[in-house]
Amino acid sequence: MAEPTDSTRAPPVDLYIGLGANLGDAADAVRRAAARLAQTPGILDLRLSPLYCSAPIDSSGPDYVNAVAHARTTLDPQAVLAVLQAIEQVHGRERPYRNAPRTLDLDLLLYGRRRVDTANLTVPHPRMHERAFVLRPLADLAPGLILAQGHLEDLLAACGDQAIRPLDQPAP
Ligand code: AMP
Repeated sequence: MAEPTDSTRAPPVDLYIGLGANLGDAADAVRRAAARLAQTPGILDLRLSPLYCSAPIDSSGPDYVNAVAHARTTLDPQAVLAVLQAIEQVHGRERPYRNAPRTLDLDLLLYGRRRVDTANLTVPHPRMHERAFVLRPLADLAPGLILAQGHLEDLLAACGDQAIRPLDQPAP
């Protein structure tokens, strides 16, 4: 007899999500978004990294608050993206112009070792390996992780020109 293909029976997959905000109470937006993610059916055992502050890259406005969340999921990648976009909407994201400051930005960074390349979704996230605001919190959750471009800590060292500091550390 054929094996069942019901995806809900598949083992959960390791999921990494990038969270960022730079309008209003950005730290609160990141924490509330993580709480919503943790309450989503099919998203299990969510852990949120420490929060960091970083200067905007390809964007504008005040410094960003950034974090990364790890969870295990039984959702497929498109369903995860739909969850992220729904949470962004709840947080009142507006897009008055390209790369405008934003109340909340959620990115699907890694979905196990799966590669996705469709019109609306690219995984691994195509720019994550060159962004300190992703790699720094990711290193807190997954030290020693190896990405397609190399070791996480080496990639982070290569971003040494990108200012990033823990949220609780005052600006220099
Ligand atoms: P952004 O303005 O940076 O949040 O980009 C959002 C757009 O990127 C949406 O249209 C998504 O469909 C698309 N997208 C492609 N790959 C990803 C990904 N890995 N995570 C989140 N959004 C993605």
